[in-house]
Amino acid sequence: SLVVTGATGHLGRHVVASLLTKGVPADQVVALGRDEERLAGLADLGVTTRKVDYADAEALAAAFAGADRVLLISGSEVGQRLPQHQNVIDAAKAAGVTLLAYTSIPHADTSGIALAAEHAATEKAILASGLPHTFLRNSWYLENYTDQLATYAAHGVVGAAGDGRVSAATRADFAEAAAAALLLEQPKPVYELGGAAFSLKELAATVGEVLDKDVTYTDLPADELTKVLVGAGLPEQFAAVLADADLGLGRGELYVEPTDLEELLGRPATSLADALRAAL
Ligand code: NDP
Repeated sequence: SLVVTGATGHLGRHVVASLLTKGVPADQVVALGRDEERLAGLADLGVTTRKVDYADAEALAAAFAGADRVLLISGSEVGQRLPQHQNVIDAAKAAGVTLLAYTSIPHADTSGIALAAEHAATEKAILASGLPHTFLRNSWYLENYTDQLATYAAHGVVGAAGDGRVSAATRADFAEAAAAALLLEQPKPVYELGGAAFSLKELAATVGEVLDKDVTYTDLPADELTKVLVGAGLPEQFAAVLADADLGLGRGELYVEPTDLEELLGRPATSLADALRAAL
């Protein structure tokens, strides 16, 4: 069977749907998560669901019994992800899976972005496990931007990324690529995944075209951006993490060539303009 962790999340639900679209029989897909309502939604698709917390090694072992391949979708509890991921890796190893795929961040082994540290440590732990693996190093989700159309319309785009370019792609595209990689006989050990890159100034211009209105980009020092995000209601620590990621974007650390994503999709990724129009 193919086991997808984090299947109840935004990305994971797309991955399960992609596997089914690609012809994997539903009874060969095992979807893991904690949220019972979303697990029930997945069960309606015919896939097997299991309620599992990454802290629960026993439940993980039971969920991986008979698993051939596992997609570990990185967890959302920043700061606790390494021990959680380690439990998944240990369970996958004990179950003797033939492939462990992991959703990571571009250039995980060299990125200076604070959020990359847990991804780098997880990649190292997977390498240390000796399991056959593929690292799906996803750049930013386009939804990080398209979800903010209303804010952009009111205040313009604000960031700390200078002229750096981000290779964002939709969750649906990253999910389809993950499903494709899971089904390849021998996926590459590392995919650097992202769509056509744009700067935040280009983001503002494209938002302006889609809204038919003048939208500006304001570049701020990271500490100023943190204050703006706190003012908009984000917790201080999370705001600082996002501002730090913008600095990394400015250094080019979220830029990748579009080739790996195109290879897995067999087509170009959904563009920023199309994603913005769809979000309108
Ligand atoms: P979501 O927050 O929608 O989903 C996170 C998933 O992880 C959920 O299925 C959740 O399960 C599961 N999960 C979290 N903690 C645990 C745990 N302790 N035990 C078991 N399951 C757990 O995130 P997305 O789907 O949007 O993104 C997937 C991952 O990508 C994120 O978790 C994060 O690591 C990373 N990310 C990447 C971004 C990018 O721009 N590239 C932006 C944001 C995050 P449940 O909900 O059922 O509890």
